[in-house]
Amino acid sequence: MATDFIARLLEALRSVAGPGPVALHAPEFAGNERRYLIECVDSTFVSSVGPFVDDFERKLAQFTGAKHAIAVVNGTAALHVALRLSGVQPDDEVLVPALTFVATANAIIYCGAHPHFIDSEPVTLGIDVVALRAYLETNVVVEGGRCFNRHTRRVIRALVPMHTFGHPVDMAGLLALADEFQLQVVEDAAESLGSYYRGVHTGTLARLGILSFNGNKVITTGGGGAILTNDSELARRAKHLTTTAKVPHRWEYVHDESGYNYRMPNINAALGCAQLERLPVILAAKRRLFSAYDTAFGPVSEVELVREPDGCRSNYWLNAILLRAGLEDQRDSVLTATNDAGFMTRPAWRLLHRLAPFAACPRMKLLGAERIESRLINIPSGPALLGGREP
Ligand SMILES: *Cc1c(COP(=O)(O)O)cnc(C)c1O
Repeated sequence: MATDFIARLLEALRSVAGPGPVALHAPEFAGNERRYLIECVDSTFVSSVGPFVDDFERKLAQFTGAKHAIAVVNGTAALHVALRLSGVQPDDEVLVPALTFVATANAIIYCGAHPHFIDSEPVTLGIDVVALRAYLETNVVVEGGRCFNRHTRRVIRALVPMHTFGHPVDMAGLLALADEFQLQVVEDAAESLGSYYRGVHTGTLARLGILSFNGNKVITTGGGGAILTNDSELARRAKHLTTTAKVPHRWEYVHDESGYNYRMPNINAALGCAQLERLPVILAAKRRLFSAYDTAFGPVSEVELVREPDGCRSNYWLNAILLRAGLEDQRDSVLTATNDAGFMTRPAWRLLHRLAPFAACPRMKLLGAERIESRLINIPSGPALLGGREP
């Protein structure tokens, strides 16, 4: 009986997350956050220059293995600049999953380009490489090193893989496709700091990648983001474009192009430096939380917990359950019952092609994404959730 299964699901949730109320993903400030913030205020360097922001970039590069990290005001700004640096121009198209946070598509719009929505598959929750290949083979033509949409005749310039809820997508498959179809790749690793694809940190597998440090992400700077690249010239361009394209000089205001005021403030980076110090502890706590959920949901055969893909290590940013096929009509009842009981649960994002601003964008058939959307529920995943308790 449906109501019986929801009661068992609630009990499993309660056995891990405690009595509630429980947020979806609350940040945890258990390290040097206060100390660095006070130090930053006392120094008066709270804005776009200061030692914390340089230090944060250095430590991010070190942690991810990227040669360069450029800190910016948020993940959306990082995507905007990364897309521009990939050569995305007005009226281009950019391939992007329909199953992603709205920011991924917004950044494409900021470039004057058109999001072109592609399908996702249920194992990684990321782009369906097999379906995308079949779609490209019949709907695009590669001429003179560029990929054209046969129907709109526009250039399809780039592909934006996204690592959904921290689970790495099939990057080898996507990089091979991008190579074959002459597409630039910008990796949206906003959710996947601490996730690895075959031992390589997500966001560093393509020429450009981005991270987000919004309040609900694995670590936070309040608001913040970063561009990752191994290419020194791209890194120099990213720093220049995100700092109003000012030509360094002791007193002259010379800007050699129209840039952006996207530099991460030092005060945000102060918070970030403290958060980065605790990242390994946070990641370990999130793995423990996943395995506690795995045990608790084991007997609830109506749902399946999303786990890291083979050969990958996930940061388990947001845990998700998938309702078994046939139970789609129970999704909203589960959302209502869990939220009523004080557990903040959420459905997947509304698929982007069904949002008003993107309704006219080109797209392939999105059957996989629709199936995921009808069955997926995110459950509380904050790093402090288990507290000191061992599962
Ligand atoms: C959070 C997020 C972003 C944007 O990050 P902000 O820092 O909030 O601008 C982009 N893409 C995805 C998939 C995200 O989850």
